[in-house]
Amino acid sequence: MKQRQNIRAAAADGVYFRFMLTAAFGLTLLAFAASIGSGTSLLRSHLNFANEIPAAGDFDQALAQKYFLLPNAQADSDAAAPAPIADDLQSTTPETPANGPIEQIIEVQKGDTLMSVLADAGIKLDEAHAAIVALSDVFSPRQLMVGQPIKLTLAPSDQSESADDSAQPQLQLVSLSLQPSVAKNVELTRQIDGAFTAQSTDVPLERHTTRVAGSIQSSLFEAGQSDGVPIEVMSEIIHAFSYDVDFQRDIQPGDSYEILYDRYEDADGNLAKTGNILYASLVLSGKKLALYRFATSDGRTEWFNPKGDSVRKALLRTPIDGAKITSGFGMRMHPILGYSLMHKGVDFGAPIGTPIYAAGDGTIQIIGPASGYGNYIRIKHTATYGTAYGHISRFAAGLHVGSRVRQGQVIAYVGMTGRATGPHLHFEVIKDGKQINPTSIKLPSGEKLQGKELKSFMALVANINKQLKDQAQSSPVASAH
Ligand SMILES: [Zn+2]
Repeated sequence: MKQRQNIRAAAADGVYFRFMLTAAFGLTLLAFAASIGSGTSLLRSHLNFANEIPAAGDFDQALAQKYFLLPNAQADSDAAAPAPIADDLQSTTPETPANGPIEQIIEVQKGDTLMSVLADAGIKLDEAHAAIVALSDVFSPRQLMVGQPIKLTLAPSDQSESADDSAQPQLQLVSLSLQPSVAKNVELTRQIDGAFTAQSTDVPLERHTTRVAGSIQSSLFEAGQSDGVPIEVMSEIIHAFSYDVDFQRDIQPGDSYEILYDRYEDADGNLAKTGNILYASLVLSGKKLALYRFATSDGRTEWFNPKGDSVRKALLRTPIDGAKITSGFGMRMHPILGYSLMHKGVDFGAPIGTPIYAAGDGTIQIIGPASGYGNYIRIKHTATYGTAYGHISRFAAGLHVGSRVRQGQVIAYVGMTGRATGPHLHFEVIKDGKQINPTSIKLPSGEKLQGKELKSFMALVANINKQLKDQAQSSPVASAH
């Protein structure tokens, strides 16, 4: 049997328990509340913890309290504390519960199938098979995800087949429940006649349009994190501002931000998922930049400034993520040729294989090796503007002369082909056939809303500004709620 993080709780009654696991990315909280009747006695439990959760012997009361929250324990006078759990942990060999159901929460491991999970839990194969068939009505076992918790309720089997069960008692599946998504619960239960029935229920989620505002000490990302803004919200906002803001240079301590976004919460107020971001603003050195999310009449969703100009420029200044300029535009001593030469582009240092994006919508004009440039791509964006990319290690699949590309589409990967001393992207912006300095010129702007669209955008701006004002008055302090 595989080692798993699991809890077995031979619970007589009256206990709610919650089980917290630390996951690879921060802390994931999995709350499972199991109510079995009402009464006083406590859990008996076995823990087979792998990895980060302490071994049974190290487990003390403090840790027990950290990993198990027993909200009813306080109310029940003699369901005292997690102490009995700790006592019971001294025993590492599984005990056969005298009688009564056993609650077990299993975290799905890599390579598991629903069948293997049930078999490992001690359920007979024919019974596991029947359970899976019934469950398939509402849940495809293929949707099982690594890390997903499955709650099993087991009971000792009626007939004891003591021939080959020395290691593992045969158990009967009483019920199984899991949550395939934040908004859905699936439950399988055994009927009196022994047959299984499965049903799925929707978890009701409520949308809360939430304003968060705060000041920036070191970075916008960190400010959002400390104010409880989900990572995906911060990432999208940073991306939206990246056309206008240089996050390495422009952010100063004391700058501030404000966000309006939708949170979907369950009945307990836990964040189940994030929805749309409606608004984001930055005040950088006293200057305010505000962005409003707007769905255009042709079905796209873009960020616009308060005048109705798209933040998306016709060209990206930096067609690569997270890279630093290692050599700017202008005269320089050429590192290989050894004499002063005009550098007609900008170099971005980045590891080999880093994706390179098309700086704007356009058509591929040249793709292939080009002497000192090494592997090279040139895109024609408009009659006036083009961009070029050099020292590429490889091109994105399927591209050829004449291919249409969209802004942000991966066209190639960083390399050091041609005359290059190290891996970097050599990037050129070409205007009327001449290379120009992309860092200093005003790049052609993107779309501007007009007519009817501009009118409905202005109505949206007024509406959002009112929501921001109302929420700021009711909670003037930075808050995630
Ligand atoms: Zn260069």
